Amino acid sequence: MQTASLLSIGTELTLGQTVDTNTAWLARQLAALGIRAVRHETVADDLEPIVAAICRGARAADVVLCSGGLGPTDDDLTRQALADAAGCPLVLDERSLEQIRAFFEARGRKMRTANQVQAMVPAKGRLIPNACGTAPGIEVTIEETPVFAMPGVPSEMRAMFAESVVPRLSRGVPSRVLATRTLRSWGLPESLVGERLRDLMVRGGDPEVGTSAQEGEILLRINTHADSSADAARKLDAVEATIRERLESAIFGREDDTLAGAVGALLTAQAATVAVGESCTGGWLGKRLTDTPGSSAYFLGGATTYANTTKSAVLGVSESLLEQHGAVSAPVASAMAEGARRVFGSDYALSTTGVAGPDGGTEEKPVGLVFVGFAEPAGVEARSFRFGSDLSRDQIRLRTIHTALNWLRLHLLKR
Ligand code: AMP
Ligand code: MG
Repeated sequence: MQTASLLSIGTELTLGQTVDTNTAWLARQLAALGIRAVRHETVADDLEPIVAAICRGARAADVVLCSGGLGPTDDDLTRQALADAAGCPLVLDERSLEQIRAFFEARGRKMRTANQVQAMVPAKGRLIPNACGTAPGIEVTIEETPVFAMPGVPSEMRAMFAESVVPRLSRGVPSRVLATRTLRSWGLPESLVGERLRDLMVRGGDPEVGTSAQEGEILLRINTHADSSADAARKLDAVEATIRERLESAIFGREDDTLAGAVGALLTAQAATVAVGESCTGGWLGKRLTDTPGSSAYFLGGATTYANTTKSAVLGVSESLLEQHGAVSAPVASAMAEGARRVFGSDYALSTTGVAGPDGGTEEKPVGLVFVGFAEPAGVEARSFRFGSDLSRDQIRLRTIHTALNWLRLHLLKR
């Protein structure tokens, strides 16, 4: 398997002012080509560190891909760094200069002298044309390793990579593919997932399983190497089956699947409908359910009842109940779910009421205390949840939404 070093160049990246999206994108593209990204490095716009990073990258892998620092200003140093690393001078490429001039003329503008520098190339290298902008890329061999430098602007980088770099990479790349599959789970702590999948998570195994937590979801990433994509799919299928067996109904989907989408599929299959009555989630639960195209088949509607008076007027929550238990309570969550089911005439209804913070918590009802109600033909129930008060307002609300959706999902799975 071929390996790649990825290098991002830009002070705005090292300072965290711009998030480096190029590297992640490139690494995924390379994986699909059977090339494994083995190191990522980000350096500021300073000549010496860029030269050093290029050399480190070249020693560590079969190919180096850089992005950034090819613009026309004094802080764009990638060109000079490549020349220094290759041990040769920069020379002017007349044809490229003409292309840059033509780019400006086609837009009714005059080329500025600063742009001339973009036609400079290390004497040992060659320029890669840029169809989307003025900065050409550069290809040069350093320490016997091909190095490709692309512009930092993500759209330009992507176009250049696809059009001009991929064809150069594919040559001599063995046909082995690196395939990845992501499974999504909800409800089991990551540590428990790790225990149940320990043998599959051994480093260097093939397939190799890794976990990561994302807003309460635990993602399982399966990587495998194989001679063909059909082979890879077979290996991924086998591990997926094992994981599903061990984690059971906690797995709700693959890749970009969502809990709301999984709920939608089950409701559709069972020709059942749902409605929501929301307080602390402010309409977000209904938004999530309607993110899935075709959700009109099962989502009847929702009520955002933020004020107590609205909870009573719209969902019929009795005033005495609100007075006796407070809006954030199990009886009120139950009454909201029951009310939503009645008002919208759905088979199921979910409700949310809680303290999303950051203020408004009390000793009795701290930030992160949430009640979810669930109404179904056979009755109604409410459960309380304690999400960490260290979570942000949106994180608490999102956990609430996922918890509610998962409750309905597990109920539908058992039917
Ligand atoms: P440069 O080619 O360094 O002049 O970068 C041009 C633009 O692309 C700037 O706005 C950068 O912030 C942006 N950019 C550069 N590198 C990256 C990267 N790795 N990920 C996302 N944006 C980037
Ligand atoms: Mg830059």
